Amino acid sequence: MSAVLVVGSANADLVVPVDRRPAGGETVLGGDTVVSPGGKGANTAVAAARLGADVALLGAVGDDDHGRLLRASLADAGVSARYLRTVDRPTGVAYITVTPDGENSILVSPGANSALAPGDLTEDVFDGALVVVLSLEVPLPTVESAVARAAEKGVQVLVNLSPAARLSAETLAALDVLLVNEHEAGYLLGADDADPRKLLELGTRAAVVTRGAAGAVVIDSDMSTVVESPRVTAVDTTGAGDAFAGALAAALAEGVDLVEAARRAVRVAAISVTRHGAQPSYPTAAELGVG
Ligand code: ATP
Repeated sequence: MSAVLVVGSANADLVVPVDRRPAGGETVLGGDTVVSPGGKGANTAVAAARLGADVALLGAVGDDDHGRLLRASLADAGVSARYLRTVDRPTGVAYITVTPDGENSILVSPGANSALAPGDLTEDVFDGALVVVLSLEVPLPTVESAVARAAEKGVQVLVNLSPAARLSAETLAALDVLLVNEHEAGYLLGADDADPRKLLELGTRAAVVTRGAAGAVVIDSDMSTVVESPRVTAVDTTGAGDAFAGALAAALAEGVDLVEAARRAVRVAAISVTRHGAQPSYPTAAELGVG
């Protein structure tokens, strides 16, 4: 029984610092590779657990060193791995380059994450959950099935639409919160400069659009609220969106309203960009002064 159930990916992040990214057919020399635990699902679960939430991750890893790295990181953060399967595929890997301005670009090989099926959503997994969080590095049918089952059970459902994907009208209508960055909002609305309030016309009850250093916009009952980010010097934005998602879910599970949850989430995500890596960069409740 966990208040926050995260259904999503677990990847090993292979991070290489580069002065610039190679173009097609080109070879560029980078710095030393750092291997760290990542994946949108695992990151979100760790971010929420660091803030004191009771969290379980439903996902899949392989029987390999990367899988063991992920299990150790989840255990260290206090995330329950009782719904984390070990399957006969390599653990997912994200190949990440980071440039000196802190910007990243990412190629994901999903591996074991592709094995996560609707059948893994057994009857018990939603018991006691207050918030279910999903992201899109696992198969779409699994995400859509989890949304439908959570909604049926009256559990709050938050989808972080990353990477962008087309959700069915039924799935969108079952969402409590749709979390997107500006590109994903543009993808859904068909134009980068579309009014974010139009996201509610897709059926979701509320939406949050993250805007990098500018913070986020919360759209709830047709009202938009701008939530500004603290000003920080970013060194690595890898996993900032997941930090935001985890912090938002932890706050919602506490019963906080969406605007206040987004205020907490921008503080957590701002700290995360001032440090290297995804999971290693996430703050604890004590660091935020809320625990
Ligand atoms: P990523 O792909 O890097 O994980 P994203 O593209 O999903 O992130 P963003 O909107 O870029 O989403 O960032 C998510 C949140 O992280 C923002 O809402 C903000 O709170 C925080 N953030 C990102 N970049 C910065 C920055 N330079 N300064 C402060 N906060 C930032």
